[in-house]
Amino acid sequence: MILGSVATGCSTDKAKVETNTKVVTAAATNKTETPKAEITTEVKGDLKVHYIDVGQADSILIQQGSASMLIDAGNNADSELVKKYVADQGITNLDVLIGTHPHEDHIGGLDYVINSFKVGKIYMPKATSTTKTFTDVVNAIKSKGLKVTAPVPGESFKLGEATCTVLAPNGSGYEDPNNESIVIKVTFGSNSFLFTGDAEDVSEKEMLSRGFDLKADVLKVGHHGSKSSTTQGFLDKVSPKYAVVSVGKGNDYGHPVQTTMDRLKNKNIAVYRTDENGTVIATSNGKDITFNVKPGTYSGAKGKVATKTTTTTKSANMGSIKAATPKVVAPKVIKEVAPKQTNSGTMVWLSATGSKYHSINNCGRMNPDNARQVTLEEAKNSYSPCSKCDPPQ
Ligand SMILES: [Zn+2]
Ligand SMILES: [Zn+2]
Repeated sequence: MILGSVATGCSTDKAKVETNTKVVTAAATNKTETPKAEITTEVKGDLKVHYIDVGQADSILIQQGSASMLIDAGNNADSELVKKYVADQGITNLDVLIGTHPHEDHIGGLDYVINSFKVGKIYMPKATSTTKTFTDVVNAIKSKGLKVTAPVPGESFKLGEATCTVLAPNGSGYEDPNNESIVIKVTFGSNSFLFTGDAEDVSEKEMLSRGFDLKADVLKVGHHGSKSSTTQGFLDKVSPKYAVVSVGKGNDYGHPVQTTMDRLKNKNIAVYRTDENGTVIATSNGKDITFNVKPGTYSGAKGKVATKTTTTTKSANMGSIKAATPKVVAPKVIKEVAPKQTNSGTMVWLSATGSKYHSINNCGRMNPDNARQVTLEEAKNSYSPCSKCDPPQ
């Protein structure tokens, strides 16, 4: 079956990663005044990082010289937006494409991107999913004759003169698919950027226990600023000057939560956020980083109950999870259930707390366990249609 063969491709591809990696950035040689944590490799040109405004989703374009990499591609509905944004930068060839984990708000537009550009290497975690979104991505990869490479934490690859080091996932089969997220640190001269996908506390703890150098100037805040990511210990180690939150205005999840924003505020980290700033562009010349916009606020989402997203797990109990040996459980299958048609009319789904109605019970913007069905007529009275799963109107 299709999914099976791709999963196999992931594991056997490890050998190939080897040839491309083990890049060690040259250590400081002549700059005695440089703090020891900094890498002083001289670099030419700029590293440009575009945190594309895709609402409640992630899509990040990174350019160095003529090389480019795209981390995630937003929701399915963002396909054209992401493609146009990348094309508008004059890009026809994406050297590296990363699908951090199989949630729609990360890989939704990936199939369209694969079909629209010449693509070099594709990194995705071993995690699979039964959703149409995931199958679409797998089919696009197959039909282009491409292969998926499974990331190996600790290994690096080059993007122009920048060095990209894989830091997670350090396990597989997590209860919460967010912890499958590929985490990458990109170093350019003495600047560095950390891209975390939706990695949560479990993954953060594993990265800490692996002893990776997590220090970065710019942190892409994990999981849209949810309460389950950006733990204090992790933030202390990354110790960024700047943080970027990729988040949709008025989203159903209550992202970003105030506690996460407070943690950033307490450390005096300038926060940029796509809900307030739109697309955020950071430019590094290897020494300094500049942004295209002024920092946003430290305000968490108001009036919303911060619920867990597409999965139905209880909040991770940090105490009971051994970081070095992640608990392996069968990947959770999220059943997609369309509302039934009844004599009283079309039925749609409501989440426990959101203000939108949905065509399916797991569109990614609600907890399927707490979803309930109502008639379309009833829903329309006090709810608006979800922009993601496009219910009848
Ligand atoms: Zn997400
Ligand atoms: Zn996710």
